[in-house]
Amino acid sequence: MLTRDDCRALDAADPLAGKRDLFALPEGVIYLDGNSLGVPPKAALARLKQAAETEWAVGLIRSWNEAGWMDLPLTLGAKLARLVGVDDDEVIAVDTVTINLFKLAGALLNRTPGGIAAEAGEFPTDNHVMEGLARFTGAKMHRVPANTRPADLPEGVRVFIKSGVHYKSAEMADFAGYEREAAARGLSVIWDLSHATGLVDLKLKDWGAKYAVGCGYKFLSGGPGAPAFLYCAREEIGQLEHPIPGWLGHKRPFGFEDAYEPDETIVRWRTSSPSILALSALDGAVSVYDGVDMAQVEAKAGKLGDILLERAQALGLDAACPGPGARRGGHVVLRHEDGYAIVQALIARGIIGDFRDPDLMRFGFNPLYNSHVEVFDAAEALADVIGTRAWDRPEFTAKKAVT
Ligand SMILES: *Cc1c(COP(=O)(O)O)cnc(C)c1O
Repeated sequence: MLTRDDCRALDAADPLAGKRDLFALPEGVIYLDGNSLGVPPKAALARLKQAAETEWAVGLIRSWNEAGWMDLPLTLGAKLARLVGVDDDEVIAVDTVTINLFKLAGALLNRTPGGIAAEAGEFPTDNHVMEGLARFTGAKMHRVPANTRPADLPEGVRVFIKSGVHYKSAEMADFAGYEREAAARGLSVIWDLSHATGLVDLKLKDWGAKYAVGCGYKFLSGGPGAPAFLYCAREEIGQLEHPIPGWLGHKRPFGFEDAYEPDETIVRWRTSSPSILALSALDGAVSVYDGVDMAQVEAKAGKLGDILLERAQALGLDAACPGPGARRGGHVVLRHEDGYAIVQALIARGIIGDFRDPDLMRFGFNPLYNSHVEVFDAAEALADVIGTRAWDRPEFTAKKAVT
């Protein structure tokens, strides 16, 4: 097990250590929830201020052109494309994860009718929206056991929704293997990259992935309810019909024509006016990735997780995620029947993680701002809270609504 001095040495040698100063971290807090809502990058706050006070308040309607508002979903999309390993013109920042899942799945089923599959225990919205789509289209919905491979999906499935990193277990998917099996079965995988983007060294194109959606407010730190993004491989764009066509997906939106003619580029996946203030914050946020090697980010996330997992093992806690040294996403999940109160007691000490029913304590690491020493200190605090039963107080055990 590493000592605090070992962790200090790891921080000193850490190529990402300088990135921490780019974030507006609050004093006295060890923030281990960036997988749920990221800490604001200073550049996101500055960009938001500029968008509001200069572009909007001074530029007014001129800013649609002069401040690049109309193209922001695309210029930001290009930056996100580099984070997921696809070409610049294949990603658009738009809508929410759930809505983008509906759009892609709806379009794919419209082209090739058949069934939909998603895993039991998948992030709930993914099942909710696919069940809704199934009810509206008459498609058959299959809720399959976790880790069902494409080769083992029921006959007739054409669209499979799969998380790149599972939000609970932190398991990382076998992207390339799934794509190979999906191609052999003639079905399409839509990757949900919500817990993977900005953390995993994603190489979607190399892996053969054609469709994905991802979240702007988790590791990407784009702000509460930040816009999501949609990736569609270039060769597929022109063949898919957007199920929610709108004026800003039109080839000539300012022609104001009665007839709908979809744009042939990634713009086709747009419906409505872009949410400029929210997009501006996310655009500022992703600047922290300039020049960053995502392989280093993923590797550091693994190391940070290992520090906590090794300590948890020594405490006799069960892990509900891949163990030390194993490939996993950016969070660690530990089981304890009093997990809710333990997490509350840690929050009272300024160590912020979260809890998921029934007994899961979740701690997320953003390698751009979390240090090895911080994780060591969080592990110490966890050991102390459990060892002294500091959690066993009414203010920690009384359950409140949690997020
Ligand atoms: C956070 C998350 C979402 C969020 O969906 P929204 O519709 O953007 O709120 C969806 N799927 C997964 C796997 C997530 O982790």
